[in-house]
Amino acid sequence: MTRALFIIDVQNDFTEGGVLGVEGGAAVAAGVTALLRAHPQAYPLVFASRDWHDIGNDNGGHFARDTAPDFVTTWPVHCVAGTGGAEYHPALATDAVTFHIRKGQGAPAYSIFEGTTEAGQTVTALLSEHGVTEVDIVGLATDYCVRASTLDALEHGQHVRVFTDLVAGVAAESTATALAEMAHAGAVFAASDVLGPPAPDAPVPERSDAAPDAPADATSDTE
Ligand SMILES: [Zn+2]
Repeated sequence: MTRALFIIDVQNDFTEGGVLGVEGGAAVAAGVTALLRAHPQAYPLVFASRDWHDIGNDNGGHFARDTAPDFVTTWPVHCVAGTGGAEYHPALATDAVTFHIRKGQGAPAYSIFEGTTEAGQTVTALLSEHGVTEVDIVGLATDYCVRASTLDALEHGQHVRVFTDLVAGVAAESTATALAEMAHAGAVFAASDVLGPPAPDAPVPERSDAAPDAPADATSDTE
């Protein structure tokens, strides 16, 4: 059995201060980083997706242009390729990411399965190639891209867990509906501490080649 982690759309435009900022998004970014640091061996494969839209068109009707967005199928301009809004949230450490998936170039794309790597590999092909049978899912937003990615992963035949402490939704009602749909389709909900206590060999955060007597970095975060 090979287990993969999907990190869905933890991007600046989907976190606080972004065009479509989700409350709790920054905390999800930090929480996912903590998870990866605490369990460096848990996921041989880590997929991270980004919404990655074209700048010069409405991306298949996904961007509201001449009317107000309905926030269901049309949205304000967001996650335009190459802009800061499309970048991963700065609290998300991406060094453990195996495959960076981009989706939404010229078309609406909610599911990670609609995207590809820069080299054009599909998620379906990568999961099959690496013998992945179990997928854990975290990210944004519960009621849109997490929902769509979860349903597609189940459709692909994966055993899917959604870590409920590491997702955040746009609205309470649509989030509740999405959770019910995912459960009905076979997703399991768990808190991320189901992975257990931090691995004994979990590395101290980064700084691989710091000088032996580098001064202690005590200039910030003194509480
Ligand atoms: Zn989009």
